[in-house]
Amino acid sequence: MNFISTRGQSPIIQFSTALSASLAPDGGLYVPESFPHFNPAQFASLANEDLSLAKIGREIFAPFIKDHATGLRAEISSICKRAFDFPIPLIPLSENTSVLELFHGPTAAFKDVGARFLRECLDTLSESKTLQKRSTILVATSGDTGGAVAAAFHRHSEFEVFVLFPKGRISPRQEKQLTCWGDNIHSIAVHGTFDDCQRLVKEAFQAFNTPTLAHQRSFTSANSINIGRILPQSFYYAVSSILHYKKTGKATGFIIPSGNLGNSVGALWAKEMGFPIRQVVLACNANRSVPEYLQSGIWKPHSTVATLANAMDVGNPSNIERIRHLFPEIERLKKEVAAFSVSDQEIQNTIAEDWKTLGRAWCPHTATAAFVRKSLPQDEHWVIVSTAHPAKFETIVEPLIGETLEIPPALSEILSKPSQYVDIQPALENLMKELSK
Ligand SMILES: *Cc1c(COP(=O)(O)O)cnc(C)c1O
Repeated sequence: MNFISTRGQSPIIQFSTALSASLAPDGGLYVPESFPHFNPAQFASLANEDLSLAKIGREIFAPFIKDHATGLRAEISSICKRAFDFPIPLIPLSENTSVLELFHGPTAAFKDVGARFLRECLDTLSESKTLQKRSTILVATSGDTGGAVAAAFHRHSEFEVFVLFPKGRISPRQEKQLTCWGDNIHSIAVHGTFDDCQRLVKEAFQAFNTPTLAHQRSFTSANSINIGRILPQSFYYAVSSILHYKKTGKATGFIIPSGNLGNSVGALWAKEMGFPIRQVVLACNANRSVPEYLQSGIWKPHSTVATLANAMDVGNPSNIERIRHLFPEIERLKKEVAAFSVSDQEIQNTIAEDWKTLGRAWCPHTATAAFVRKSLPQDEHWVIVSTAHPAKFETIVEPLIGETLEIPPALSEILSKPSQYVDIQPALENLMKELSK
């Protein structure tokens, strides 16, 4: 299987090269040249214990690394087993609504799935000497990515990880998850927004791509521009759509809290591969670029607005390129995807109301999807995709429900560690100083 750039001006490459390159030389994002096709009936005959993320993930991943000379193919089972060693339950909420809980990993958000899969693949490539040099991983985070990547790569000493986060703009527990590691993880508090962090990472890539510096380090991004984070996000949509199909013979729809659109691309790719998915609905916060695009057909990114669902505070989502590449015609896109914008007030109301009526505490991101569910046809089945544990956002959720949330054990262990980070102003020279220490 080959991988191509969304902008069509870069050489065709294989998965492992796309993994370490992150961004294509023409500035586009890597996507599969075509998709393998799976038959739902073939999976529906399996027992539920064989419908695990590790087992189905292996089936889906295999065709993407077919004809692949690296060590990935030989290690495919252990890559999937080690990456996906936590549950991702699909829990019925009412007759026509279920919840897909993606937050049972080490940092209590769905980013653990992609970060751990990327770690396993890069570890394997490093052991098979496909990666030549000690690698530096740069990641800009709006809150949850940095923690997941730091947790995944901590003490994998062939990688040095730099996490850039917008100081004061993430929840206290998110900050703790970014800053508690030490060793090969370096946390950098940027006095600016997420967009500043993302810009600095891009500028550093460009600076290190000049011939004089290129030999010194090999750079990789662990943001969702990296194909190694996107592909595994199709696996849980495959598994949960099959579980529903097995029970009912029908396809379900997914409502996905969306920001940079990496999670949604995973769902759309699973649908392309033939898994029984009826529709994909994007629940956005007050950052309205995507809902507006689906209405007007004109792509016009906005600057980022800060909201209660901070991990979705993205005004110019990079993965829109992958979606537009998949559906270049707006009419087709509109048939496959719908998008809604949800306000902070609606997020707060939904958290309070659903706690009372359902006894469920949503994180602010999941609350956008729970809100959108109420406006979709009640006689169709929908899955609310739950992207983070509410206890990560206790300062928002607890006052709304009037109770203290129990902290998952993996999270409480992290919270007991001391923090360490450096502060920088958002200029490239400051970041370069940190990278060269
Ligand atoms: C990252 C994140 C999102 C948004 O996911 P994208 O892939 O960027 O669209 C939603 N919810 C939570 C909790 C997140 O951490």
